Amino acid sequence: MSVPVFRFAPSPNGYLHLGHAYSALLNFDLARRSGGRLLLRIEDIDPARCRPAFEAAIYEDLGWLGVVWEEPVRRQSEHMAAYGEAVERLRRIGLVYPSFDSRAEIARRVAERDAAGRWPRDPDGAPLYPGSARDLAEEERAGRVAAGVPYALRLDSAAAVARAGPLAWDETGRGPGGETGVVAAAPQAWGDVVLARKDTPSSYHIAVVVDDALQGVTDVVRGRDLFWATSLHRLLQSLLGLPAPRYRHHDLIRDAAGAKLSKSNASTGLRELRAAGVTPAEIRQRLGLHAAWSAPGY
Ligand code: GLU
Repeated sequence: MSVPVFRFAPSPNGYLHLGHAYSALLNFDLARRSGGRLLLRIEDIDPARCRPAFEAAIYEDLGWLGVVWEEPVRRQSEHMAAYGEAVERLRRIGLVYPSFDSRAEIARRVAERDAAGRWPRDPDGAPLYPGSARDLAEEERAGRVAAGVPYALRLDSAAAVARAGPLAWDETGRGPGGETGVVAAAPQAWGDVVLARKDTPSSYHIAVVVDDALQGVTDVVRGRDLFWATSLHRLLQSLLGLPAPRYRHHDLIRDAAGAKLSKSNASTGLRELRAAGVTPAEIRQRLGLHAAWSAPGY
């Protein structure tokens, strides 16, 4: 019989805070309550921001909280070839193109378009790709690649959406506007996203869908900030022939002033709280979680 598979997937680019504790404990509790499994995945594809010391701290802080996960832990940096292969599959079916625009060029075009009426932003607030690299002739592309011009591989979102058709996902949590149940995916809201760069063969979006499928994840439980990224994840799953997990986007934990938590905020960092004598039970209580998964009545 197959059991539910949950995962907690932090990026080791800082120390864990109360928001991570909430996500990890919720995944752990849901797995325990459903007789399921909990996996831990280290999302360390960005070598510029990830550090071994932060990864070591993740194990220590989660262990202290009482979270138990299955070994071995999957470290994404060890599987870059698998993500590169997924991008290559999309390229072979004509859904990926190289764009050579520099950041400065992109910023200039966005400013120009904003001056002519506001250029659209993605759900995270970043401007959609305003360039025209999709229309470059094949020889021009090949010439620039051969000349060593840096590039990003982008998804041809119009072609991808046309190929995949309408998509939806099962949401047992809530989106920023209260969306729940069967949610219609809107991947076009992200424009032609970057799937890989010349020196980094994967983006978060590719790595997450490849790994969720490969690890047999049935239930993705994560913060509401990733709610609309799910549109893109559904699109990539469909194009790559991968199954869709169920999703549950949970509340984001805020600090006393109502601001989003950051990895450098000392008052909500797990290490700081532990050093100040706060116990894991008090953390659960502060997060509004049950005292422990095995407590009577759970
Ligand atoms: N690695 C992501 C983060 O730390 C979470 C990805 C996910 O849960 O899909 O924000």
